[in-house]
Amino acid sequence: MRVIDAHIHLADDHPQVVKLLETLELKLLNVAVAHDRSGAWRARAAAYRRASELHPQRYAWCTTFDPPNLQTEDSAEEVGRDAYIREIIPPLEADLLRGAIGCKVWKNIGMQIRKRSGEFLMIDDPIFDPLYAFLADADVPLLMHIGEPLACWLPLDDDNPHAEYYRTHSEWYMGSKPDHPTHGALMAARDRVLARHPRLKVIGAHLGSLEYDIAEIAERLDRYHNFAVDTSARLRDLARQDREQVRQFFLDYQDRILFGTDIVQRRPCGDLDAAAREARLESLQARWSREIAYYAEGEMVLPTGHRLQGLALPYEVVGKVLSGNAERWYPGV
Ligand SMILES: [Zn+2]
Repeated sequence: MRVIDAHIHLADDHPQVVKLLETLELKLLNVAVAHDRSGAWRARAAAYRRASELHPQRYAWCTTFDPPNLQTEDSAEEVGRDAYIREIIPPLEADLLRGAIGCKVWKNIGMQIRKRSGEFLMIDDPIFDPLYAFLADADVPLLMHIGEPLACWLPLDDDNPHAEYYRTHSEWYMGSKPDHPTHGALMAARDRVLARHPRLKVIGAHLGSLEYDIAEIAERLDRYHNFAVDTSARLRDLARQDREQVRQFFLDYQDRILFGTDIVQRRPCGDLDAAAREARLESLQARWSREIAYYAEGEMVLPTGHRLQGLALPYEVVGKVLSGNAERWYPGV
């Protein structure tokens, strides 16, 4: 069965990686992320683009854009907003001509970037409306990583499924930042974009940051027909919920859920010695196999010895989640 990992950051087309992808019938959608206005993301995006040009069967790529600088005097004014759009659209158009099939927006919008007034820049700020109109006209989907798991606002105790991440990435831990927007405020801003731009196709990364309750995801999918979600890095959140309800969720929304892993790899295989390369390839294969098995199979035994109840979805639903939905939501993938 063809599989598309619709959310990954793996700038590596080492022959052994390409061979592994062939064996697994796997294609990767590499996603660029703009952490700041330095433009540093462009080097990584260029590697994603090269891989997709050399191996179009195995790699596709999703571009992004620089966030605005809102610290200048006129940035809040219409003239500042116009200047920003004139700055970001031409490179975006160029990337689309060079094969990018989507555009990504990251969590720094809503959680990190402030306006001159001190307020946080939210995803529904009018500064982005022309961008959304442009993407909708071009039929280019927007991959939105807005907000964080709800766990980001909760105590970092043993019950918190993402405690490890926030212990090591305290800059993103919101439990200690009461002056930052709440999870609810971030979701409401995202929802307003979905409502205001019904022709814009939006894929909510990481289960749309509503991973803690599939009923919350279902509510948005019912309300916004331009919305889909990817599963990247949120399998543990699904596995914590009632298995029968999660299975029913996948049956009910079988056209709106895209498989993704969010594997992040900074050093390509070519930089590793043979032993490290073998270990890397084995761990990649194990990760993909395990995640794919969760949708297709029943009871699984993880390498840790833990048992996990897979969803054992019908064959055609597995096909949609693993590749069919990516093909529909990301035209050209
Ligand atoms: Zn990611």
